[in-house]
Amino acid sequence: MILYLTGRAEVVDEYDNKLIRTVSTSYKLPKILRLFQNHKISLNVKFTRMNVFFRDQFQCQYCSIKLPVHELTFDHVVPVSQQGATSWENVVTCCKECNGKKGSKSLKTSGLVLKKIPKKPRWSPELCLRLSDDDPLEWWNFFPEKIAS
Ligand SMILES: [Zn+2]
Repeated sequence: MILYLTGRAEVVDEYDNKLIRTVSTSYKLPKILRLFQNHKISLNVKFTRMNVFFRDQFQCQYCSIKLPVHELTFDHVVPVSQQGATSWENVVTCCKECNGKKGSKSLKTSGLVLKKIPKKPRWSPELCLRLSDDDPLEWWNFFPEKIAS
């Protein structure tokens, strides 16, 4: 609603029977909003354990295995003992086996290879849309790969 009311998005479709009321007026609840391309939403994504896992898609950044959260850990690419920072650019999701191999070695010494260079994400996992069966059917039109499956 903030994006719509501040002119950064337009309503594509709305609910006929659901209203958002303010003190002075009411709006039909938008069902689908379209963001205007010339407005970028700058996000300051918090550096947290879960957000690192989301960025790396719950996948070890060395051997590519995907694991549940309780089987994952982190690795400092440049070890803390070598002044490596605890930051988006230096911490990656890691399986326990690769973490054991890497230890406090440098990347080069360990012989491990990173899947990709770690960066601060430009999206927020909290804003990622995941559809469920009770969401409006119209939303599925924007997820053609899911309709096909
Ligand atoms: Zn691994």
